[in-house]
Amino acid sequence: MIEQKKILILGMARSGIAIAKLLSKYQNEIIISDIKEQEKNTVEELENLGIQIKITQEQENLVDSSFDYIIKNPAIKSDHSALVKARSLNIPIINELEASYPLLPKDITIIGITGSNGKTTTTTICYELLKKKHRVHVGGNIGTPLATIVPDIKKGDILVLEISDHQLCDMYQFKTDISVITNLSEVHLDFHGSYEKYKAMKKKIFNNHTEKSIAILNKDNEDVLKLTENIVSQKMYFSKTKEADIYLKDNQIFYHKEKVIDCNSIKIKGMHNYENCMVGILIAKMFQVSNEEIKEFLSTFNGVEHRIEFVRELKGRKFYNDSKATNNESTIIALNSFEAPTLLIMGGLDRNIPFDEISSSLTHVKAILCYGETKEKLKEFAIKNNKEVFVLDTLIEATKKAYELSQEGDIILLSPACASWDQYPDFEKRGLEFKEIVNKKK
Ligand code: ADP
Repeated sequence: MIEQKKILILGMARSGIAIAKLLSKYQNEIIISDIKEQEKNTVEELENLGIQIKITQEQENLVDSSFDYIIKNPAIKSDHSALVKARSLNIPIINELEASYPLLPKDITIIGITGSNGKTTTTTICYELLKKKHRVHVGGNIGTPLATIVPDIKKGDILVLEISDHQLCDMYQFKTDISVITNLSEVHLDFHGSYEKYKAMKKKIFNNHTEKSIAILNKDNEDVLKLTENIVSQKMYFSKTKEADIYLKDNQIFYHKEKVIDCNSIKIKGMHNYENCMVGILIAKMFQVSNEEIKEFLSTFNGVEHRIEFVRELKGRKFYNDSKATNNESTIIALNSFEAPTLLIMGGLDRNIPFDEISSSLTHVKAILCYGETKEKLKEFAIKNNKEVFVLDTLIEATKKAYELSQEGDIILLSPACASWDQYPDFEKRGLEFKEIVNKKK
């Protein structure tokens, strides 16, 4: 436990502020720093707790040998000059999850979920299913920092944490009881430098595991299997192609040999989502959640906000918000999740990445409505693929046009394949605006 220590916290995002507040209760001397000016309310709140705030571009100048710990935001790269200096002074560098961990009651169950894709959806499904029978908390990369919920966690509770590879970088003592890797693919290579380094970070989700710990693994993903060859944990598998602890066969999900649910009863669509459901079901079954309770939840769960999220049905048209799809891969997944004729709304920040790999998933697309910085490139892409295309300036206009063109039975899908930053501060704001337009339609 970190008490009566001198700590420098780098980064004043949610997790930095949360851990500063938590550790301020344990007689620590805390300095928190960021490169950007902070809101007055935040500054006042922290100062009232005796926390010092330093806004500076030269954070390395704050580091000296008087510090016992550096707690860094997960997005700060390890070669940041302040961290290089801290290492030269032998100051331990950890993150908010690692710093919160010793403050948790000892007899709780911790479930850690990582992977390249599907973390948030899987974490949400697990949490919602476990909630049917247990006292459960959810946090981590999903939005609520662990430090915020630590005070609410009691003996016997279950804690479900979404954990990113960035967070795994600075974790040492942290240990889960159950760890999940949903899948592995080549993402975030700019941060880690190579796929090998990225995978090595992901492997840390099994840190400190013993033979009693459980690893839930994707049997269909070669990289996951290779990475976990020599971990000591008890391994449990999910698969969409072969028998496993939980698997998909004839469009139904089986737990060992027992049928749990027909995929037609699952509201969220797409093979990727069935994988996310399988992990949730496997964990739910381990904690005595009944098949009835599983069905009750999965037949009504609309998905996590902004991820192929069902918004509403209007005059036979179904609207889906997939604003989180900021790259080709995600848009392909969304398109492959539907069979009905689709009006596809795309566009956003231009990163100079061609859209060609989406071509083979356009079979059901009736027309493309494009807007934003990439609109002209998307127009060319649509023409190349013999798709009707409409070029608009804004998401509002694109959504209106899509509705005008639609017929009963169609899907209207926002799956932009681009980041939102040309017109929005983040993908959440973009998705919220889309939902607002759709919900207002009469
Ligand atoms: P993450 O938290 O890992 O970013 P999300 O659950 O937020 O994942 O889903 C983000 C996007 O990733 C989805 O919209 C979908 O395109 C894709 N995705 C989700 N689950 C999976 C999966 N199991 N396998 C592959 N891709 C997935």
